[in-house]
Amino acid sequence: MGDTSGDTVWLFDLDNTLHDASHAIFPAINRLMTAYVARVLGSDEATASRVRVDYWQRYGATLLGMIRHHQVDPADFLRAAHDFPELADMVRVRRGLVAGLSRLPGRKILVTNAPRDYALAVMAVAGIDRCFERVVAIEDMWVHGHLRPKPDRRMLRRLLAQIGVAPHRVVLVEDTVSHLKHYAAMGIRTAWVTGFLRTLAPSRPHVVPAQAGAARDAATRSMLAAEDRQHVGHTAQERSVTLVAAESQDPSAVPVNDGAGGESNAHTAATAPQMQPDHTPRVRARVVNRPGYVDIKVQLMHQLLRQKRRIGS
Ligand SMILES: [Mg+2]
Repeated sequence: MGDTSGDTVWLFDLDNTLHDASHAIFPAINRLMTAYVARVLGSDEATASRVRVDYWQRYGATLLGMIRHHQVDPADFLRAAHDFPELADMVRVRRGLVAGLSRLPGRKILVTNAPRDYALAVMAVAGIDRCFERVVAIEDMWVHGHLRPKPDRRMLRRLLAQIGVAPHRVVLVEDTVSHLKHYAAMGIRTAWVTGFLRTLAPSRPHVVPAQAGAARDAATRSMLAAEDRQHVGHTAQERSVTLVAAESQDPSAVPVNDGAGGESNAHTAATAPQMQPDHTPRVRARVVNRPGYVDIKVQLMHQLLRQKRRIGS
């Protein structure tokens, strides 16, 4: 073809990069995670939601809190949170995805913080299961006994060593800006996919209006505070890890125009009640800025092909 860009290695995120996960999948993951936490705690869902918000704010992911405070098996948690008998009806892709991926020259690897079975199932439904030479899922992200999902740099350095490629030849294609930011600092080029972003990530843990759980919450909080005092040494390490794709959609890091002249922030997103789809349609984020660590910004995959020369591919 006369194209010399075949040396580029594209690392593709899955959820909200190659398909629209905000539409049905993330809300379902959210419900499944809350139900799982409620089962482990033996609590109602409102209490489980509040515990999730607490863990999410402190550790960056519900799972990390569940591992630390409840000795939850990560594989079991992730399997339960990604169990969708109706997945085929939930995956939404844009027309031309397969063609767009096929036309893109270079090696392509899928890297997702989601479990492998889920990723393979989504890829099959989306028709992109033959577009990638390798799938790196959460199960592949253990480094020296610790789970190190995106945006961990040790995990990615190991992957690049395994596939024999230098960072400057890699382009990470992602919707989550915190991942792009972490990896840009390693010398990796970045493509930010904005087409599936929403102003409020529906998968985020959210506060359910309080019922009778206030006393139990206070007890939970004091129990957590006591455990915290025993685990201070681990906190910094765990804070550096962002876990579970559905929870790492961080609107606080995305410069969006929220219509009020300000930017959404973590506090707002984490404490806002979940929007009711029947009377408040989800609003698509209008992304107004391109952060310095983003090399190219595209709405959808087919624009990637058009813009790839801008980053020297
Ligand atoms: Mg994503």
